[in-house]
Amino acid sequence: MTGSPAALPAAGRASNHARARLRLAARLTAAGIGDDRVITAVTQVPRHLFVDEALATHAYDDAALPIGHGQTISQPYTVARMTEALLAPGCCSTVLEIGTGSGYQTAVLAALVRRVYSVERVAALWQRAEARLRGLRCRNVRLRYGDGALGWQEYAPFDGILITAAAHGVPRQLAAQLAPGGRMVLPLNDGDGQVLVRLTRTSAGFRHEVLEPVTFVPLLAGVA
Ligand code: SAH
Repeated sequence: MTGSPAALPAAGRASNHARARLRLAARLTAAGIGDDRVITAVTQVPRHLFVDEALATHAYDDAALPIGHGQTISQPYTVARMTEALLAPGCCSTVLEIGTGSGYQTAVLAALVRRVYSVERVAALWQRAEARLRGLRCRNVRLRYGDGALGWQEYAPFDGILITAAAHGVPRQLAAQLAPGGRMVLPLNDGDGQVLVRLTRTSAGFRHEVLEPVTFVPLLAGVA
């Protein structure tokens, strides 16, 4: 027995992953994530199952990783920051996510809210995420293949909408599917960069807060 990860029995690897998740959670706390619910979800969701096996040793680095089709699984800090921005205070019962990708952000949300709906435009990613989330018994999640800019009218309105790809402006049909008092967190292209923005639907319209600079793949039209 060499003690290298490959030589460990499955149970040993599982507890290594659990320890790596605790280290990641501590790092996110140090980076300013203050919502304990979000930190707990990070310690529970097995991110190594959302990336290719060849990348599993990097799954608990605080880094975005490739998931194929030119797309990435978001950096854990960004997932935590967006989730925290969406949830505080007391939100949400139903959340719509645009850009399922690997399904990791979906699983983090599913640990925290009553129901998550998520839309992905790349068929292969949608199928893989569906299989992963079923394997993890995330029963409060519904996935759909389609253009997320159109939202998911059948289940609207949503208390929260989270977009994990950068748009040039707030997609109008998504804003219309936000419940009164609901929040939308999304990366927006802003001249030469991207910023994370939170919109809150008020009786007078939408309150707009700029949170911090971010880097996301683009929100694309149609399906692939
Ligand atoms: N939340 C994902 C992030 C994936 S990257 C994760 O943690 O893994 C963003 C995803 O948005 C990609 O999978 C991309 O295919 C998807 N996407 C881009 N434009 C879209 C659109 N209009 N509708 C639905 N999904 C879209």
